[in-house]
Amino acid sequence: MAVTSDSRRIPLIAGNWKLNFDHLQSIAFVQKLAWVLQDARLDFRAVEVAVFPPFTDLRSVQSLIAADHFPLVFGAQDVSEHDSGAFTGEISGAFLKALDCTYVIVGHSERRAYHHESNESVGAKAAAAIRHSLVPVICVGETAEDLEKRGAAAVPVEQLAAALSGLPTGADIVVAYEPVWAIGSGQAATPEQAESVAAQLREVVGEALGSDAADRTRILYGGSVNSGNIARFLREPNVDGALVGGASLVVDEFAKIARFQNHVGV
Ligand code: PEP
Repeated sequence: MAVTSDSRRIPLIAGNWKLNFDHLQSIAFVQKLAWVLQDARLDFRAVEVAVFPPFTDLRSVQSLIAADHFPLVFGAQDVSEHDSGAFTGEISGAFLKALDCTYVIVGHSERRAYHHESNESVGAKAAAAIRHSLVPVICVGETAEDLEKRGAAAVPVEQLAAALSGLPTGADIVVAYEPVWAIGSGQAATPEQAESVAAQLREVVGEALGSDAADRTRILYGGSVNSGNIARFLREPNVDGALVGGASLVVDEFAKIARFQNHVGV
């Protein structure tokens, strides 16, 4: 399958806030982010900007974005594989959809590591998201040990193939390639590595969900992205955006990342 840049793939700049910001801080942040981006005349048709607040902030973020017609989207950081029932502490995809979430992150490496999420449970969460018309942002990535023993792509390819195995043909997903060793370390992967793994992940999407889905699916790079390196990643034909952790907590820095098209030539 040919792997090419597809003009239907509007770049997605996504900020994963993790366990940061309560609902009041989230309101202040989203308000300032929207103002900064609007002042800078960001073309929101050319780049989609999303934030992923903690669950308890979602209602506040939803109300603010709707009331002020901000051109921002949002999602949750996790979802239950179950729809309802006796699952204390879990959050259903139905509840997220009712709050107007567009996306939900599944399989972030921190959940795989600290909550022992398996490829099977990540797949079940992705399926739950699709059932509720949410777009799962499926995270995959190799540890430093995986990189040394098996190269960059082997583990992400396995993780993605497992996560997609129960999804319907043509399912609407986003993939985030996040080398675990690059997350929060200040040491990003090279754009060449991101491109090479992203191209292989696109092949996996094609095999599991069909060639149209492969062409349309956005594959993000994540791991120590900042305003100084974003443009180099976005020049790669198979990298369609970024999942940003630490740098998404600083409004001006996150806004600069969203404005990567201003410094593509840098
Ligand atoms: C992340 O945790 O998804 C991430 C990419 O973090 P950071 O940008 O801080 O490396």
